[in-house]
Amino acid sequence: MSARLLDGRALAREIRSEVTNRAAQFKQRAGRRPVLVSLLVGDDEASLSYARSKARQAEKVGIDFRLERLAAGVDTDAVVAAIGGLCVARAVDALIVEMPLPPGIEVAAVLDAIDPRRDADGVSPDSLGRLAAQLPGPRPATPVAVMAMLQAAGTSLSGVNAVVVGRSKTVGLPAALLLLGQHASVTVVHSRTADPAAHTRRAEVLVVAAGRPGLITPEAVRPGATVIDVGTNWVADDAQTSGGRLVGDVDPAVAEVAGAMSPVPGGVGPVTTAVLLRTAVALAEARFGRDSAHGAG
Ligand code: NAD
Repeated sequence: MSARLLDGRALAREIRSEVTNRAAQFKQRAGRRPVLVSLLVGDDEASLSYARSKARQAEKVGIDFRLERLAAGVDTDAVVAAIGGLCVARAVDALIVEMPLPPGIEVAAVLDAIDPRRDADGVSPDSLGRLAAQLPGPRPATPVAVMAMLQAAGTSLSGVNAVVVGRSKTVGLPAALLLLGQHASVTVVHSRTADPAAHTRRAEVLVVAAGRPGLITPEAVRPGATVIDVGTNWVADDAQTSGGRLVGDVDPAVAEVAGAMSPVPGGVGPVTTAVLLRTAVALAEARFGRDSAHGAG
């Protein structure tokens, strides 16, 4: 058996086409383009390159993208103050804070500073709380991308055993909440779980977000399962002297057991960026609606 590979690039194109239409309609009504700001603290090369890729894609779909930078040496208060300023700026519809933050910065305080009305990546505690309460609000891009991949795969979720590996507040936990919202029966496996494979082997839907290359082997997967690999890990490639290779958390040999599987690269990653842009437009639309209702134009 060889798993059907789920094409994240094709799904991302579909989402970007929807975003392009919505951004154009927004421009017609508001007389300007939606504005997405990314705050990058420090000099992390991978974050900078990811921010630049978002900038290129935002431009293509009709969103103005601005990169704001703070030096690596700033403290938590300075980051919180910068976010506070961006969240009240008239010129900003949506904000993302690039992760990881430099060591020493309190991530929880930074996320708490993001106004949910500007929270393009749905990572503030308010946004997470609204998700837990199944109330409307901005959702985190990566877990939404996971759900979009499952939907595109035609996987039914109601009543199925779904296992999420990883419990981070930005990926694993919200992914589990979104799956619950679709009536899956959800188990969360994490670094302290006694026998992870005992759980993953029962999963009809397996979502893996641990950041551990090759963590999920064929023996840990139920035959026919739908496996979504969120992991993005750069590993040294013996065949190359420089750079590395992007791999997921799922051993490629799992394709021999799974029914459907998302590849890395070309799976969840491109869909995540497209979803983030869609949320940015949605926040701009909501803000324009509020301003119009209050006569601010
Ligand atoms: P994180 O480090 O915050 O959390 C990792 C989680 O995995 C933790 O809850 C931990 O308990 C669990 N874990 C670690 N080792 C484990 C093990 N051996 N067995 C079971 N559970 C284990 O990471 P994160 O931010 O949630 O990201 C997870 C992965 O997803 C990373 O590779 C990251 O780069 C990737 N990611 C990809 C995208 C994308 O768009 N494709 C977006 C965000 C994160």
